[in-house]
Amino acid sequence: AATVAVAAAADAAITRDGHRIEVFANLGSLADAEAAVAAGAEGCGLLRTEFLFLDRASPPDVEEQAALYDRIGAAMAGRPVIVRLLDVGGDKPAPYLDFAAEENPALGLRGIRVGLTHRALLETQVAAILRAAKHHDLRIMVPMIASVEELEAVRAVVAGEAAKIGRTRPIPLGIMVETPAAAMIAAQLARRADFFSIGTNDLTQYALAMDRGNPAVASGIDGLHPAVLALIAATARGAERHARMVGLCGGLASDPLAVPLLVGLGVEELSATPNRVPEVKALVRRLSRADCRALAEAALAAATAAEVRALALRFQQELP
Ligand code: PEP
Ligand code: MG
Repeated sequence: AATVAVAAAADAAITRDGHRIEVFANLGSLADAEAAVAAGAEGCGLLRTEFLFLDRASPPDVEEQAALYDRIGAAMAGRPVIVRLLDVGGDKPAPYLDFAAEENPALGLRGIRVGLTHRALLETQVAAILRAAKHHDLRIMVPMIASVEELEAVRAVVAGEAAKIGRTRPIPLGIMVETPAAAMIAAQLARRADFFSIGTNDLTQYALAMDRGNPAVASGIDGLHPAVLALIAATARGAERHARMVGLCGGLASDPLAVPLLVGLGVEELSATPNRVPEVKALVRRLSRADCRALAEAALAAATAAEVRALALRFQQELP
């Protein structure tokens, strides 16, 4: 692990004015982990664990899950891996989950709401992550948090599973900020969470009240809408109050137009798709965070997403 740290530092993405931005990768399989390392990812900012749970008759047991988390941890070779708890819902049904049909799946039983109503599923997953975390730097991330109570309930489950195996060192427990509610109570959540990762795909859908899967509104779903930027800024402010790290694992982290804005808004870790990692690192090295902050200020005052895009485009064209 020490060798990896030294090698990673040498290859770090540091802005021209000396601020390190960690460039991580989003993973949805073991093959992704290998691609991410080859692309220079410094860690995994989002392991989507759904692939383990869908298209099967019964959920994976603790051994099967632990073995997979262990293999992904090994492929990431000492780098941090943020494992997101299962994020399924009415739109991604698993036959062993007794979901009733919902009129609004995006507003229904999904994300951590599923784990909190199907406790055995949550406990098994946490137990498996804790088992694999004996050998790797795994961290737990909770999807779709909308309240402090949800985080506290998950923390109790994590503490219970850790006690069962006699683990005394706490595992980092963070949350996805992907509901406007979470962004607006970021300071209260930051007091109780070890880190944040902003999920701009869902945050945009919920901020703009536009279904991300509905083609009729697809052209309006823009993560550079000033309302979404305001929620990102609120999240970063809340995190700063308690000195928590703010990452971002939604699609904006892979968008070269968005990256300078995100850095300016205070995002410290960008988790991109593995194939975009080299480009994001190269871009960070061309940035000055001070200039990014000025860009972010201007973007927060913009009236429309189109205005934000025009500002970001000009910034990009003027980069040294
Ligand atoms: C997000 O919502 O931005 C996110 C990263 O999660 P997913 O796309 O898996 O919902
Ligand atoms: Mg999401």
